[in-house]
Amino acid sequence: MIKFKGLLLATTLAASAVTMTGTALADGLIGIAMPTKSSSRWIADGNNMVEQFKAAGYSTDLQYAEDDIPNQLAQIENMITKGADVLVIAAIDGTTLSNALANAKAAGIEVIAYDRLIRDSENVDYYATFNNFQVGVLQATNLVNGMKKRFGDVKPWNVELFGGSPDDNNAYFFYNGAMSVLQPLIDSGDIVIRSGQMGMDKVGTLRWDGSVAQARMDNLLSANYTESRINGVLSPYDGLSIGIISSLRGVGYGSGDMPMPIVSGQDAEIPSVKAILRGDQYSTIFKDTRELAKVTVGMVNSILGGGKPEINDTTTYDNGVKVVPSYLLKPVPVTKDNWDKVLLDSGYYKRDQIE
Ligand code: BGC
Repeated sequence: MIKFKGLLLATTLAASAVTMTGTALADGLIGIAMPTKSSSRWIADGNNMVEQFKAAGYSTDLQYAEDDIPNQLAQIENMITKGADVLVIAAIDGTTLSNALANAKAAGIEVIAYDRLIRDSENVDYYATFNNFQVGVLQATNLVNGMKKRFGDVKPWNVELFGGSPDDNNAYFFYNGAMSVLQPLIDSGDIVIRSGQMGMDKVGTLRWDGSVAQARMDNLLSANYTESRINGVLSPYDGLSIGIISSLRGVGYGSGDMPMPIVSGQDAEIPSVKAILRGDQYSTIFKDTRELAKVTVGMVNSILGGGKPEINDTTTYDNGVKVVPSYLLKPVPVTKDNWDKVLLDSGYYKRDQIE
C-alpha cells in the first residue's frame, strides 16, 4: 500500500500535494492511544505527535483513556473501525491488548508500541522508546551521588525502594536498572533497606499512583524510621516522588535538623523540576518527548512508504511472543546542577514556567 499522496499526485503535477520545498506530503490516518492526561508527559507526547504527524500530512485520532483499561480497548477498537492505517499505542496494561491487536492485524493495520512495550502479542510491529534499563541506572546513580553529597560517609545509608506499575513492562526495566547499581551496595552493607521490602512484587505501585506511593511511604516511615533516619528513596516517576516527599515532610523531613532524604524521579515534569530547585527532590530523568514523536513519525513514514523503519535494538524487548524491533533514545539525568542546560537550552521549557 503506497500512502504517499506526493508520489501519486506528483505525476499529475498536482502542486497541492507537494509542500513549498517540494517534499511529498503523506496521507493516512494515525490512531494514537495514550494512557492518561493525569501526567503532563503524556499530554506532551500526544501534542508532539499530532503536531509532527500533521506537518507530515497525516490525519490523527488522539485519545486518552484516563488509566482505564476497557476505555483504552474501546478507543483502539474505534480507531480500527475508523480505518486507521497505523496505531501508535502507549498501553495502560501492556498485557491486555492481544485481542484488539489481532483485530488490527486482520484489518491490515500496523502497530507501534509507544514508550511502553505491548506484551503477549505477535501483532506488535515496532517499538519506539527510551533505553529503559539505563533510566533505572541513572536514577540509582543520582540517588547514590546525592546521598554521598548530603550524608557523606556516614554509612550505612538507609534507603527505601519504590517501583512503577507492575502491569507496565517499563517498570521492571527501571527497577532492574536501578538494582544493578544498588544491589552491590546492599551486599556490601553500605545501603540498608530497613523495611526489607525489595522486588517488584513488594515495591510496585499500581497505575503509577502518587497517592498509593504516599500511603506506602507513611507506613514505611512509621514502621521503620521512628528511631533512625531515612537517607534516600528510589522513586521511578515524578508523580510518585511528589507523594513520597509530602509523606516525608509530614513527619518533619526537610526542616530543623532532619535533612530531606535524596529522592529520585523521572519525566522532568514541571512541579518536580520546581521541587528540585527547592531542594525537596534531588533528581529526575529527562526523556525528550519531541524526539520520541520524531522517531515514531519516522517509523510510520517508512511503514506506509513501503520501507523498513530505522531500528537500533533487536535483542532487548521480548514481549513474551517475539522480540520487537525497537528504537531506543537516550534518557538524560537532571539535577539542580544541569536543569537549565538540559531543559531550557533545549527549548523544552521556558524559564518562566519553572522559576
Ligand atoms: C514511562 C515513564 C512514566 C511512567 C508513568 C512509564 O511507562 O516510561 O516515563 O514516568 O510510565 O507514567
